[in-house]
Amino acid sequence: MDLNSAIRFSIRQVSSELFSAGSIFSVYSLASSFALGFAALAYRRLRRRGRANLRATARAVFSKNFAARDSVHADIKLFVLSVIFMPAVIGGLVVSSNTIAMGVHSLLGKAFGPAGDTGLSDLQIKAITTVVLFLAYEIGYFVDHYLKHRVAFLWELHKLHHTADVLTPLTNFRNHPIDNVIFGYMLATFIGGASGALHWLFNRQTEMFSVDGKNILFLCFLWTIGHLQHSQFWIPFPGVWGRLILSPAHHQIHHSTDPRHFNRNLGSVLAVWDWMFGTLEIPTEKNPRLTYGVDEKGVNQHSSASILLTPVAKSASALWRALVSAPQFLFNARGVAVGRMLRRHG
Ligand SMILES: [Zn+2]
Ligand SMILES: [Zn+2]
Repeated sequence: MDLNSAIRFSIRQVSSELFSAGSIFSVYSLASSFALGFAALAYRRLRRRGRANLRATARAVFSKNFAARDSVHADIKLFVLSVIFMPAVIGGLVVSSNTIAMGVHSLLGKAFGPAGDTGLSDLQIKAITTVVLFLAYEIGYFVDHYLKHRVAFLWELHKLHHTADVLTPLTNFRNHPIDNVIFGYMLATFIGGASGALHWLFNRQTEMFSVDGKNILFLCFLWTIGHLQHSQFWIPFPGVWGRLILSPAHHQIHHSTDPRHFNRNLGSVLAVWDWMFGTLEIPTEKNPRLTYGVDEKGVNQHSSASILLTPVAKSASALWRALVSAPQFLFNARGVAVGRMLRRHG
C-alpha cells in the first residue's frame, strides 16, 4: 500500500467510526449522551438553586485548555491507531469467537445430546439471546479488567489507560494495542462460549437485536451514559441504582489518584459484579473534584514512546521478574495494601 492509499484508508476508517450508528464513537451517540448529561446537570442546578444557569453548567463541563493538554493529544493518537487497526483485530476475533462457539456447541451436543424444543417463540429466543450475550460481554469485561489491575505484567499495559490526566470520551481509546488484543480474546472466549451454549439450547444460529452487529443493550448504554464515564460530567447513581449500574461518576472514581479509589469500579455497564466481588465504590452526590492519572515523578506519560513502547518494556520486565525471581511478583501491589488497611479500619 503506497502512502496515498494508506492515508485514504485511514481517513475512511476514522470517518466510518464517526458516522456509523453502531460504532463505539459515533457523533450521534456522542451528541445524545452530551445532551443528556448537560440536561441532567442543568436540572440539578435548577433543583438546588432555583435556576439552571446554562453558562455555569457549561463551565463545569468544559475546561478552556482541554485541547492544549498532552494527555488529550495522546488519546487522539491512540484513537486513530485503534480505528485503523480495528478491522484486522476484529476479523481475527470473529474467527476465534466462532471457533469457541462451535467447540462449545459440539461439546454440549456430545455430552447431553440434542436439547429438546423449548417451546419459546422466535421473538422470545432473540430477546433471551440479546440479554445472555450482553451479560457474557459484561462478565468478560469485568474478568479482563480485574486481572489487568491485579496481575503486574497486565497492569503495566493497562496503566496507559489510567495515565490520562483529563477525561474526555476519547480516553475510551487510550489503550495499548496489546491490551486491546488481550481484551478482544477475553471477550471472544466469553461471548463465543455463551453463543455456543445458546446455539445448542435453541438448536439454531444465535441471533440478537443489534445495529451494525452491536448488541442493542450495549448501544443503549453508549447512547446515554457510556461516553460520560470519560468526561467532566459528575453524574452519580446513588443508592440501589448505584449497586446495579455504573454511572459516569463511578468510572471517574476508577481513574482517581486517591489511593482509596485504586482498583474500584471495574465493570463496564453493570455494577453488580463489583458489588459481588467487593470492589464497588458508590459515588457521593456532591462532586468531590477528583484528580486523575498515575503519579510517576519526572516522566512524560503522553509521549509516543511512553504510550507505545514503555508499556511493552515494563510489562515484559514484570513478567520476567515473576518468572525468574519469585511468583509473588505476578501480583500488582498498587492499592492492595490500602484496600486491606481500609477494611481493617472499617
Ligand atoms: Zn482500569
Ligand atoms: Zn476509563
